[in-house]
Amino acid sequence: MMQQRTVYDVCIVGSGAGGGMAAYALTQAGANVIMLEAGGPWDNTSDDSAMLRPNYSSPRRGGSTPDRPFGEFDACIGGWNIEGEPYTRADGTRFDWWRARMVGGRTNHWGRISLRFGPDDFRRKSLDGLGDDWPIGYDDIGPYYDRLDRLIGIFGSREGLPNDPDGIFQPAPKPRCYELLVKKACNDLAITCIPGRLSILTEPLNGRAACHYCGHCNRGCQTNSNFSSTNVLIAPALETGRLTLRTHAMAREVTLDSAGRASGVSFIDANTGVDEHVQARVVILAASALESTRILMNSKSSQFPDGLANTSGMLGKYLTDTTGSDVAGFIPAMENHIPHNERGVQGGHVYMPWWLDNSKLDFPRGYHIEVWGGLGEPGAGFMGGIHRYPPGGGYGVDLKKQYRQYYGTTVGFSGRGEMIPNEQSYAELDPEVKDRFGIPVLRFHWQWSDHEINQVRHMQETFRAIIEHMGGTVFSPMPTRENGYGIATGGRIIHELGGARMGDDPSTSVLNGWCQAHDVANLFAVDGAPFVSQADKNPTWTIMALAWRASDYIMEQRTQGRI
Ligand SMILES: Cc1cc2nc3c(=O)[nH]c(=O)nc-3n(C[C@H](O)[C@H](O)[C@H](O)COP(=O)(O)OP(=O)(O)OC[C@H]3O[C@@H](n4cnc5c(N)ncnc54)[C@H](O)[C@@H]3O)c2cc1C
Ligand code: SF4
Repeated sequence: MMQQRTVYDVCIVGSGAGGGMAAYALTQAGANVIMLEAGGPWDNTSDDSAMLRPNYSSPRRGGSTPDRPFGEFDACIGGWNIEGEPYTRADGTRFDWWRARMVGGRTNHWGRISLRFGPDDFRRKSLDGLGDDWPIGYDDIGPYYDRLDRLIGIFGSREGLPNDPDGIFQPAPKPRCYELLVKKACNDLAITCIPGRLSILTEPLNGRAACHYCGHCNRGCQTNSNFSSTNVLIAPALETGRLTLRTHAMAREVTLDSAGRASGVSFIDANTGVDEHVQARVVILAASALESTRILMNSKSSQFPDGLANTSGMLGKYLTDTTGSDVAGFIPAMENHIPHNERGVQGGHVYMPWWLDNSKLDFPRGYHIEVWGGLGEPGAGFMGGIHRYPPGGGYGVDLKKQYRQYYGTTVGFSGRGEMIPNEQSYAELDPEVKDRFGIPVLRFHWQWSDHEINQVRHMQETFRAIIEHMGGTVFSPMPTRENGYGIATGGRIIHELGGARMGDDPSTSVLNGWCQAHDVANLFAVDGAPFVSQADKNPTWTIMALAWRASDYIMEQRTQGRI
């Protein structure tokens, strides 16, 4: 094994949302940091980005490839399956794990829906008796959400909703035509429908340009108008001269010194296969929730035979993903529209935060609704097939006429809801299977409960009611209870969280409220692993707020000589 001589203040594993945030905060505060990143370099401000390439420029029309499942121009290199890096599932389990392998991780192509958790989201057990409370509350994290808004930029509108706190918003883009129709239907049906909240600049901020509405955010924005860890966090961290970025470095294990403190990280150079070790005074895992969990499980020693920081036995437990289900339909009012440019940002310009009282429903937690449709750039398989539109089909001139008539008449809704952590959803090391680096892989166990299934039925009924109220026709029949009302497979919404949850009690949690291991004071995890619950919000703004807060704490503890 090659041993690096430099002892860094901090070693961060992973350069996505959590790792990038920690690198930014720590280098600004003066720490000397090394970052290990399993993937290769990437720069969305350079020619790496296909932001301006039309789908028709490729024979595949932008269709997917094995390492770009979201389309060949998508910015994220990775996917559900990575060659040589498998994972396994227990019998009967359906769970899919998305992994990025590049600098910036999934923040290169994420949807940029940036929602704050609300005060109730940190104390759900106190409110309805299910799951667990967090050891921290909204007041602890609120100032960090504010800092993110100011540093990174976010658009939205001030609504004063109690559990969907407002941020420091730039103006939101105007709703598109179909979004105005959706909003009208929602108003009639008493469903809250408000401007979207996305980390995309509508006004210049901190040297970055405002969005020019090309609608290709997932390809990596060349003008740096949307948020990616790569160019909004890691680039300025590198500019301080205090960040060493080591790409193609696959972390395997956190090492310990004789006093039981983290001493560094051993990793494999993915290009050469050589084993290396880097020394650091503090280790931060940010390799994504489940990968950080795997690294801890694989860091076994006589002191921690069941995995590092696992005296509670909670490592790998209480995994969650957002619940998801979609419905799309045909809206005749949008037929033969006057051609116009309505591109805007890639995501929806409106969305529906949770608007109902659960005490009157047969499921305990909520969901928000994401809206899609309109005149997005046609790509492979666009509109899902003309046969779905009346009287779709045919050849030649008729076919072209139909495409013009029906283009832009689809509207779709995706529910994104809160799963309650349960004991049946967890990860463990597979006793036999190893990846191409010789590192044991994760085996998943997954189970939805009636809480999630009933919630998804409600999603389906709501989306169908909105489409019908718009005078439209739903494309698919109502799914049945036997198939979970169309609930997406675990992991498919790519908001996997938990595995090293935080808590005040070291016998029931892995980390404390500062994302610090109860068992090892100089070890932290700042991705989705510390999450105690999901909330009905996408998680990344909270991952970054927690990472920034943990970084401040690390600097303070180091100043006081505690770690
Ligand atoms: C298509 C898509 C849309 C999404 N939309 C949204 C959204 O709108 N809003 C939202 O809040 N969230 C969204 N998400 C989820 C969001 O991307 C994640 O929550 C977030 O990126 C997680 O940050 P992270 O730092 O934990 O992990 P990642 O961003 O995945 O970064 C982890 C990094 O660690 C590296 N790594 C992994 N293993 C190792 C190892 N062993 N050694 C060294 N490096 C390693 C990886 O290469 C990667 O760069 C979306 C995700 C996808 C895929
Ligand atoms: S829509 Fe705006 S933020 Fe998205 S890629 Fe285009 S310019 Fe960048």
